[in-house]
Amino acid sequence: MELKISEKYKKLIVDTGRELYKQNLTIGTWGNISFLDSDTDLVYIKPSGIEYNEIETKDIVVLDKKGKIVEGTKKPSIETSMHLAIYNARDDVGAIIHYHPIYSSVLAVTGLSLPGISEDFVQLVGNKVVCAKYGLPGSKELAKNAVIALGERKAVFLLNHGTLCVGRDMKEAMKVCSVVEKTAHIYILSKSIGKCRIIPEEDIKAMQDFAKDNYGN
Ligand SMILES: [Zn+2]
Repeated sequence: MELKISEKYKKLIVDTGRELYKQNLTIGTWGNISFLDSDTDLVYIKPSGIEYNEIETKDIVVLDKKGKIVEGTKKPSIETSMHLAIYNARDDVGAIIHYHPIYSSVLAVTGLSLPGISEDFVQLVGNKVVCAKYGLPGSKELAKNAVIALGERKAVFLLNHGTLCVGRDMKEAMKVCSVVEKTAHIYILSKSIGKCRIIPEEDIKAMQDFAKDNYGN
């Protein structure tokens, strides 16, 4: 069977990388972006080691969910096994962005969790974001630890490394990136004043149910 490869999804990876860069959410070649086409089960991923502003659609690597390259001449992102492990573990994930923004990386180097402190965060991302156990970049161990700590939530911190966000589609994954970084910033500032209130679990649940009923999450 001929697998249909879409130029549109390659462009989505290119455009999202430029947007991440523009929003100061990552620098240089750090981080990686992928998209799962649910019709073909093919994964489109950023190539390794090319600056976001220099990536073109011809550089995007297309693989199946087992990691076999279907199209592309460049080396796929070093974190390909982490992206594939998440697509294989979670049916609801259609896009993944791994990035190195400042405030969530502050939490990622401490190993602390980001608790549910603001309404947009608990509705979109989950009750909290926890930090995965350490694994070397690109290792199978990092992929496994990220899947475990991500659980059913939409973001996870990678110890001494950065953050990974997921969404049903790229638009949602991008939104999760912004909300996690903003909430990490607020959390760190509030801690510097002295304290912040964590939203009680029952209120988080009520807000998540409301979001599900009203926005179809
Ligand atoms: Zn990284």
